[in-house]
Amino acid sequence: MDRVLRQVAIAAPGFLADEEGLALYRTALATAPKGPFLEIGGYCGKSAIYLGAAARSRSTVLYSLDHHRGSEEQQPGAEYFDPTLVDQRGRIDSLPMFRRTIAAANLEDVVVAVVGRSSVVAGAWATPLALLFVDGGHSEEDVQADLAGWLPHLKPDGLLAVHDVFPNPAEGGQAPYHAYLQALESGFVEVCAERSLRVLARS
Ligand code: MG
Repeated sequence: MDRVLRQVAIAAPGFLADEEGLALYRTALATAPKGPFLEIGGYCGKSAIYLGAAARSRSTVLYSLDHHRGSEEQQPGAEYFDPTLVDQRGRIDSLPMFRRTIAAANLEDVVVAVVGRSSVVAGAWATPLALLFVDGGHSEEDVQADLAGWLPHLKPDGLLAVHDVFPNPAEGGQAPYHAYLQALESGFVEVCAERSLRVLARS
């Protein structure tokens, strides 16, 4: 991966380890079908740089979906609250930081921000995807809705990536892990594991 892009990604705020980002980049580069990538949970643009770099190489685009109002854990007083992401009315708004990150990475021609709720956008979506990266809300409800809404848009030979998969409950919330297990039960096979990132393909 381009050294400068990688440095911008490492410097961007977010919750993705560089090793996970590089695994995402390699995964996106290796997608078999031609088609755009979509991530749920763009936040400040860290993962969008890794995926955007791969999208540029594959002559496609990354749709980076987020309502940009922060997850439950990012609200004022919560564990992952960032006071620099509050707008003039006191609400979380991570979109300005997202745009700064993507501009700094010079990826504005490849990374397309989609601002809205995952279920709303999924319901109106029509473009088959080569890669789906699920890293949005981490409640059971959110993760289940993301899978139900977006898996139908994944091409048959497309790849599904899930972040924050923690088989051990002491290490993190279980909703993404449950989604991962569910994907395995429904016929996906694991093709890559890097820290809490899992990549799956339909068998
Ligand atoms: Mg995550």
